[in-house]
Amino acid sequence: MEIPFSELASLEGVDYCIIGSGPAGITCARELAAKNRKVLLLEGGGREWSEESQSLYEGETLGDTYYDLQDARLRYFGGTSNHWAGWCRPLDAHEFEGKGPTAIGRWPIRRKDLDEYFPRAGEILEIELPEPDTVLPGGMLRRISYSFSPPARFGEKYQSEIIASDRIILALNCNLTRMNAAGSAILSITVQDYGGGSVEVKARDFILACGGIENSRLLLWSNLASGGVLLKEQAKLVGRYWFEHHHAEIGDAIVETGFIQPPDNPGPGAKGIMLLSLTPKMVAEKGILSCSLRLNPSPRSGVKALIEDIACVAPTWASWADGEAEKGQLCAHRLKATAEQEPRFENRVELGDATDRFGIPKVRLHWRHSELDLRTFRESAKALGVYLAVEDIGRVRLLPWLVGEAEYPQEKPHAAYHHMGGTRMADDAGSGVVDRNCLVFGLSNLHVIGSSVFPGGGHSTPTVTIVQLALRLSDHLAARS
Ligand SMILES: Cc1cc2nc3c(=O)[nH]c(=O)nc-3n(C[C@H](O)[C@H](O)[C@H](O)COP(=O)(O)OP(=O)(O)OC[C@H]3O[C@@H](n4cnc5c(N)ncnc54)[C@H](O)[C@@H]3O)c2cc1C
Repeated sequence: MEIPFSELASLEGVDYCIIGSGPAGITCARELAAKNRKVLLLEGGGREWSEESQSLYEGETLGDTYYDLQDARLRYFGGTSNHWAGWCRPLDAHEFEGKGPTAIGRWPIRRKDLDEYFPRAGEILEIELPEPDTVLPGGMLRRISYSFSPPARFGEKYQSEIIASDRIILALNCNLTRMNAAGSAILSITVQDYGGGSVEVKARDFILACGGIENSRLLLWSNLASGGVLLKEQAKLVGRYWFEHHHAEIGDAIVETGFIQPPDNPGPGAKGIMLLSLTPKMVAEKGILSCSLRLNPSPRSGVKALIEDIACVAPTWASWADGEAEKGQLCAHRLKATAEQEPRFENRVELGDATDRFGIPKVRLHWRHSELDLRTFRESAKALGVYLAVEDIGRVRLLPWLVGEAEYPQEKPHAAYHHMGGTRMADDAGSGVVDRNCLVFGLSNLHVIGSSVFPGGGHSTPTVTIVQLALRLSDHLAARS
């Protein structure tokens, strides 16, 4: 059922109050309702996009060029699923284990802990598992693929079900503006509408599902407003280790036409694109992070120009390639890469000086690439170059900024709109904000869900993992109570 803001004050007996109605919040709400729990689903925006809600996402960014924070997510029913692209791929098993001697990006859970949730996540997102990876000769590279959600728009898809439900109470235009704790429990949250109304909402448990930036912001603000009582020592890690997928055009490749095998089921925007990644063994040997390489078809004229460039360093190959290109046996591709980014303490969501209409400090996002991020791009592309040269089926040319011949390009963001980290999952309170069941360390009834809990992001898109985690959290909560 749906209720207006004015009825929130008289609500009683709510088991779970979920804040945020994106993929994470809606998945938790439906699952808990299916387990016969009474759920209050609060959404700060309305049923459609509005300036008054979206402007609450304003913020500043420091470091590398990043998207305008107001455009990088959506603040209404269904959340950012209202304009996501639908690319889905669960994280690889090795991506949960962390990389290198310091286990960068290590999760306290393993892929097998999420695998059992894939079939339900698949139904929700309307996808099947991607085709299995194919390891290429030599064992250095594998051809990988994605599944493509239609894409599922969570608001549209589940609106009727939620409104018809007698276990889910949906309240739109209801903004969480503060969490109020006593001891180790959240007693209530303060909720405000756009007309100046404010109400305290009580529930047994609270689930924060406001997206990969707001989860940190709302925790940081509630802690500040409580004089540090809410999070105590834990506050120092909130917002920290924020990361994205490092995503950029990194060079060109010229390859034999027969090498290009795009997936059988390309989604919109993926037609003709071949996806490759280093095998986990190579990633470990090179001491880099996960990275997927995308070979995007270039116009035919690109082949000639590339051969001319490559002639300077490989004249014999170039003269052979010239003949092959004439016969249509070679094609040119733009080489793009999407890589796991190193989660670094200094990359963070923090509270800025300006405030929004509710008096909450706007976000200040610090985000900068690292040497390891650059090396991950470079080594992954070099591995492809070596493979093509050894097999004598093509060549790769990297852009000058990747080989130290130009500055890191800052004309546009090298990111993918994937907001991860900030409330990362860990085994202990010294290393993260939430435990393996997404419960905030030091609190008994506040869970956080979404990609803010990711300790590492792999190279794959995050939403299928978010949905798997939301299903797992719902099972955990239902089993606990
Ligand atoms: C252009 C674009 C393309 C993308 N493409 C892909 C893709 O192909 N594949 C993929 O896996 N991912 C993609 N993503 C990322 C994907 O959209 C997110 O991973 C996903 O939406 C996150 O779900 P969420 O529920 O955690 O957060 P969100 O979807 O952001 O939902 C958060 C919700 O919380 C609400 N909220 C925020 N603050 C408050 C408050 N104070 N009070 C009450 N409610 C509040 C918001 O209104 C919103 O409804 C894309 C993102 C963008 C921007």
